This record gives sequence, C-alpha cells and structure tokens, in this order.
Amino acid sequence: RAYNFNAGPAALPLEVLEQAQQQFVDFNGAGMSIMEMSHRSKPYEQVNDQAQALMRKLYGIPDDYEVMFLQGGASTQFAMLPMNLLVPDRPAAYVLTGSWAQKAVKEAQLLGETVLAGSSEADKFNRIPKGAEINVPANAAYLHVTSNETIEGTQYMDYPEVPADVPLIADMSSDIMSRPVDISKFGVIYAGAQKNLGPSGVTIVIMRRDLLERCPKQVPTMLRYDTHAKNGSLYNTPPSFSVYMVQLVLQWIEARGGVEAIARINRDKTKLIYDAIDGSGGFYRGFASPESRSQMNITFRMQDEALEKQFIAESEAQGFVGLKGHRSVGGLRASTYNAVPHESCSALAAFMLDFQRRHG
Ligand code: PLP
Repeated sequence: RAYNFNAGPAALPLEVLEQAQQQFVDFNGAGMSIMEMSHRSKPYEQVNDQAQALMRKLYGIPDDYEVMFLQGGASTQFAMLPMNLLVPDRPAAYVLTGSWAQKAVKEAQLLGETVLAGSSEADKFNRIPKGAEINVPANAAYLHVTSNETIEGTQYMDYPEVPADVPLIADMSSDIMSRPVDISKFGVIYAGAQKNLGPSGVTIVIMRRDLLERCPKQVPTMLRYDTHAKNGSLYNTPPSFSVYMVQLVLQWIEARGGVEAIARINRDKTKLIYDAIDGSGGFYRGFASPESRSQMNITFRMQDEALEKQFIAESEAQGFVGLKGHRSVGGLRASTYNAVPHESCSALAAFMLDFQRRHG
C-alpha cells in the first residue's frame, strides 16, 4: 500500500477495504451487493440505523440531536445552513480562518446579512484567532467556525464562547471524530465523510433538534433539514454504498478504542512529523503558528523553496502520495487523518531526515 497523505478523498483503513471487498458481490448472503439493494430493504435500513447509532455512541451525541446523512458535500452545507437558519434582522457571524471559511461566508453573503466575528487574514491565515479577537454580536443568527482549515493546516484548540441563543456551527469536514468534542456546545456540526469517515458521497450533519424549526416555508424540500430528519435520511435515494462504508469505518474506530484512543494515536503520529520540522534547524519551516497547528494537515515549506519540487519527486519515487501543498499556500502538506497508519508517519519522518541529510 502507498503511504497515502492525500488531503481528500483520503486513506481508508485497510481492514475496512478488505471487509468491503469480502462483502462486495454478496452482502451477507443476499445474493447481491449492498449497492444493488433497495434503500427501503431491511438490510439497508439496518446499515443506515447502525451507522447513526454508532456515531451517536462513539461521539457522545445527546438525544436531542439529529444525525443526518446527506449529499452534496460540505460545499452544499455552506448554502443550506443560511437557507435554513438565517433569521430576519439577525446577521450570520463567521470566523474567517482560511480558504474553507472564506467559501462558507461567500455562500451566506448570497442569502442575507453576514458579519465577520474574527479573522486571521492579516496573518495569512497561519493561526486561529482566539479570546478577545472573536466578537460575536448578541443578536447573531449563529456563529460559524471551520474547526480545521485543511489547506492552511490550522485547527481550533478551544472553541469560542457564544452568547446565549447564538448556536455555534462548525464545519468539521477535516477533523470530525479525530478527537473528542462536547457536542452539546454546538447547534450544528457538519462534515463531508471523505477524510476521516469513509469515501466521498455522503455528508454528515449533526443538528440540535430545536433548530429544525427555524427553516422558512419557501425553502425547497430537498434543501430543508427537517425533511431529512423526519425521514431518517431516507427521504430520497441515499448514497447507500458510502453510508455502508461509513458504518464500517465507525466499527473500526470502535475496535481501536473509540474517539479518545484515536485522538491519542493521531497526536503520536503528527508528533513524529512536527518533530522532524522543528528539529531541522530551519531546513523545514512549519506554516501554521505552533499554538494553532493542526493534528490533521501538517503544512510546511523548505528554507530553500527550490528544493520542494525535488522533495516531492523523491518522495513519490519512494511510495509517498499527496505531499504537495495546496496551490494557494504552496510548499508541502501531509494529511494525517484517522486512517493514516503510524507506520506511514514514521516513514515520512525518516524520509524527511534523510532528505535533509542529503540536501541540507
Ligand atoms: N470544508 C472543509 C474544511 C474542507 O476541507 C472541504 C474539502 O476539502 C470542504 C469543506 C468541502 O467539502 P466537499 O468537497 O465535501 O464539498
């Protein structure tokens, strides 16, 4: 297997792929694949129910929250959230932390009044604003944060406090279930599955139930959360194979000891790579400011930027995939999501040391 550091879609656990392979043609003796089954059939309903139940159990989701499996990616959520949750005379507040927060704000601006509650744009988005840098209007319809900026490689360590009656909404596309979270602090959490939870095609939305009632009447059926909540995510044909894969990934997380254990494993993995950066005497330079460093996307540059191309070419020749940074930041990026094995990270740290020895 390649050392897969892709930013998304990303590595899946080998055990999960093998289990899916085993069930691919004949799902539990049904004589057909799960992909060929009606989404109204008993076996598929079980998959859908179990995926929801496991997510509730492993992530500690309280009973007054809905868990929904939708389509359209996190990018559709950028619009669907303001469509459902904007209220007249209450602005939508956003913290601008990078490329993905920017895309979220842009959609909300199409639909109503928005305010920036905080921004790190002046620092090229190399850190997450905190404390007094974030000011949320007391009448805001909600506060939206991007818990992990996939492109810049920054991540919230603590979430901002919000005034009573202002729900906190988080785009957790690139760090969902990578560490424990107090769900009760949030009105909504959403994420595309394709980094930490499965293949692309399904978007997870965790929403406090009272917020379902905010949706204005004119919002079309498929774009209303209450439609999907009322129908257990089976209003229309769901992305059944993706949901099935999410169920398998959740079982894999459970078998590894749950989200807390996963968070520990993730910290050990990223430490190997951050240590290689910090111990390089400036040969490698981390992009994110240390207090905002992501445990999911490690962004760095080389002192001699001309060497970056060679780093990528040599790494590819040695079986590493996906280390080129996003074009907007440049440099290098290693995405170390839940399914990236410890072994891949130690191999990368060793490669970085060796590359420095040869070119430093
Ligand atoms: N938000 C974040 C933080 C992301 O990293 C991404 C994708 O990389 C998205 C949103 C967009 O997700 P999707 O491609 O599922 O629309």
